[in-house]
Amino acid sequence: MKNISVIGAGTMGNGIAHVFAMNGYAVSLIDISGPALEKALATISKNLDRMVAKEKISADDKAATLANITTYTDLAKGVKSAELVVEAATENIDLKLKIFAQMDEAAPADAILATNTSSISITKIAAATKRPEKVIGMHFMNPVPVMKLVEVIRGYATSDEVTSIIMEMSKGLKKVPVEVNDYPGFVANRILMPMINEAIYSLYEGVAGVEEIDTVMKLGMAHPMGPLQLADFIGLDVCLSILHVLKDGFGNPKYAPCPLLVNMVTAGKKGRKSGEGFYTYTAGSKELVVAPSFKK
Ligand code: NAD
Repeated sequence: MKNISVIGAGTMGNGIAHVFAMNGYAVSLIDISGPALEKALATISKNLDRMVAKEKISADDKAATLANITTYTDLAKGVKSAELVVEAATENIDLKLKIFAQMDEAAPADAILATNTSSISITKIAAATKRPEKVIGMHFMNPVPVMKLVEVIRGYATSDEVTSIIMEMSKGLKKVPVEVNDYPGFVANRILMPMINEAIYSLYEGVAGVEEIDTVMKLGMAHPMGPLQLADFIGLDVCLSILHVLKDGFGNPKYAPCPLLVNMVTAGKKGRKSGEGFYTYTAGSKELVVAPSFKK
């Protein structure tokens, strides 16, 4: 394969485009928003600069990577010659079903259609197309250029051939793919989100404070980031929506989101991207400061 299209140029889409382009693929990066595309190119350029400074790549590699990326605001044009499309648009089921129906019409009939969804059923997304055997989950982790894992999710109808192509391709991107089946939350979020929810419950019930909970998990379990900091990093709205998918998908109240998480999202405290969650975030500062509501 040579031609890859990436739909959505946000946090994940720009990282996915970066990794494919750095590995020599011609990447069409598509977003409905022109400013999002501009921002994505600036982010990719900045992240490549960091790699040049660390001598991981040369200045020529940076130029070649950027030259491999073309941007589009028109989805049909952007997927016209794709051999693989990776969808990384906003996590919203109706939006993804619409995008997959559009892609199915506009992309070549033999193209593989992948989604980077964190939690939406691959089988349901595949059913919006006439090629469910060619639809698969390719779940990259954030930040994509740094994180090694790709959770490769087989929908109910995904073929063995398509699964093996995506597994091999992920290895070619110098990632470690892990094959999993399509059940709510897959593996990553089925295990991670209940832990994050339990950490929020521990705070809500006054078992311990923000820093104490994160310190226990960092020093006690050797996690690089505590669960509350990680929730802020992922986005509290994203965590909430994944917990809803788990609760609805399994019909089990054990996945019910903590009322504190619901309140925080309703109040617009979505974590790092909104400037405040369990911690407050100031541009240019790496210091971890507990949010005023949780200060003792
Ligand atoms: P984001 O909000 O940063 O970016 C989404 C982008 O999609 C935006 O730029 C938006 O303009 C664009 N978009 C919306 N509708 C579109 C359309 N019709 N056509 C083209 N572009 C459209 O979101 P994100 O965090 O990058 O998440 C993208 C996907 O990746 C989601 O499915 C999410 O669940 C998944 N994911 C996110 C993370 C994470 O840590 N953020 C990790 C793994 C997977």
